[in-house]
Amino acid sequence: MSATHEVFNQVEPLVDVNLFDNNRALQSALKFNAPGLGTSGFSALGAQVGGADMQQHARLANVFTPQLKSHSRFGHRIDQVEFHPSYHALMTAATAAGLHGTPFAADEQASGHAHVKRGASFMLFTELEPSMLCPISMTYAVTPALRDNPAIYRDWAPGLTSRAYDPALKPFTEKAGLTMGMGMTEKQGGSDVRANTTQAVPDGSDAWGQRFSVTGHKWFFSAPMCDAFLILAQTPAGLSCLFLPRVLPDGSLNKLYIQRLKDKLGNKANASSEVEFAGATAWLVGEEGRGVPQILAMGTMTRLDCALGTSGLMRQALSIALNHTTQRSAFGKKLIDQPLMKNVLADLALESEAATALSLRLARSFDRTQDAHEQAMQRLLTPVAKFWICKRGSHFAQEAMECLGGNGYVEEGGEGIMARIYREMPVNSIWEGAGNIMALDLLRALRKADAAAALAHELAPARGMHPALDHLAQSLPIRVEQMANEMEARRLAQDVALAVQAALLGQTAPPAVFGAFCESRLAGHWGHSFGSLGAGTDVDAIIARAQPR
Ligand SMILES: Cc1cc2nc3c(=O)[nH]c(=O)nc-3n(C[C@H](O)[C@H](O)[C@H](O)COP(=O)(O)OP(=O)(O)OC[C@H]3O[C@@H](n4cnc5c(N)ncnc54)[C@H](O)[C@@H]3O)c2cc1C
Repeated sequence: MSATHEVFNQVEPLVDVNLFDNNRALQSALKFNAPGLGTSGFSALGAQVGGADMQQHARLANVFTPQLKSHSRFGHRIDQVEFHPSYHALMTAATAAGLHGTPFAADEQASGHAHVKRGASFMLFTELEPSMLCPISMTYAVTPALRDNPAIYRDWAPGLTSRAYDPALKPFTEKAGLTMGMGMTEKQGGSDVRANTTQAVPDGSDAWGQRFSVTGHKWFFSAPMCDAFLILAQTPAGLSCLFLPRVLPDGSLNKLYIQRLKDKLGNKANASSEVEFAGATAWLVGEEGRGVPQILAMGTMTRLDCALGTSGLMRQALSIALNHTTQRSAFGKKLIDQPLMKNVLADLALESEAATALSLRLARSFDRTQDAHEQAMQRLLTPVAKFWICKRGSHFAQEAMECLGGNGYVEEGGEGIMARIYREMPVNSIWEGAGNIMALDLLRALRKADAAAALAHELAPARGMHPALDHLAQSLPIRVEQMANEMEARRLAQDVALAVQAALLGQTAPPAVFGAFCESRLAGHWGHSFGSLGAGTDVDAIIARAQPR
């Protein structure tokens, strides 16, 4: 074909940028939550994950998705999942960056900021590829629950905290690094796991404690190539938490059979499966019959990651929208200079910075587990952040996608990163406790006598900074104390999130950001869509702070 036209007014993609050095919101949140923590490591990671070669791995891992190999060509069951080499490259990078169990290693704990440090790195990595972070996140989250079987934890901790990625299907003693997953959801129920029917029959005991033979299924079982899983099953004493390795200590394969892989909306690079256990061997973790609180020690940390991950995706979507509108023109101006587009971009920037601030503040509570206020904040803000940030994610991604016009909606063989972000967003809201479950969990947290006082204490540093925040802060403890009605739980979770986000921005963000956030989200000068900030808002200052270059 001969050329029919010149291609112009299309944008250069956002690659080979340092994702940390220009992320001022993340830098401010880090300074606030981990003062004194050096930033050179983040800068190195920001350069790595923003680089073209890593972006290419992310694309390939999403295009060439995991394949189940249930049987060998000779008919033997092998239950393996095959991944593209780019998936393994991403896993290697995430493990080397210490995003899995590393914060629980003694040398990391000594810094006092292990979880904030890891949380910020996790956010940055999410901007590269979020779905393969599922097994990384579960391996991070498992330690608080697994520690309650000290014998297993002693044997597995070195592999869970090591910075080596080792995908081989081998006994744990022969591996340089280990990963873990979780199995709770069954066909008949995921939120209400009390309905689990999987049976665990006592089968003696050994150095790892009480052993069980497990028969049943899990309807959602992500990252089935992990080395072991915490699962829920019914023992004679009731629903219990069990440790189920894929390869048994004697080197034989455990009786865990992968039925098929889920065909998902997004989250494409990650394998999620349906499995059956046919007399699989597992060991008790924690108290028999107390499986739900036991495995929730893991769930609490994966919920933190849902908030961190969504914040990372928001930042990525915002950066791409800013990159696009800075280069693309319409009606005689760059899009970013059109007043209404400024309103949209600034509004997205406020949401992104507020999500970052709340996520890292929650991560801080995991670094200070001996502090009573931090314990209260961990309990209170985990469901709040998981609910609100993840709930905002899909709406955010849609609006950021729209900034790119039609190009935003196009996949183009995985080049359409915005489409990938949009498809990824809802999962963080659904798994690990969907929106309603999080709001109801907040009600449970609030029943603690000191919840209202803890919330008031958290908001106190921002007192007097903005009348709308003062008004909300005054009303919340009363609403918290009177709260008995499930019907209002989402509204309460939203308002607690907004109040804490505003108070954090008051302490970490420039006045233009803090003022616009309070005016829009708290004072009512806002509509139901992004891009409805009030006329007097300093949108230029907000956009300049958010620019990714
Ligand atoms: C990609 C993907 C991967 C997953 N990986 C795993 C995994 O590795 N391991 C695992 O165990 N699970 C996994 N899950 C399952 C996930 O955690 C569940 O889907 C989720 O917890 C919801 O459970 P459910 O699907 O049974 O829905 P249900 O429990 O039926 O809930 C449906 C809806 O009802 C709402 N609801 C429930 N109870 C109430 C109530 N009392 N009041 C008001 N509303 C209520 C929920 O909020 C939800 O919106 C995965 C899910 C997905 C999508």
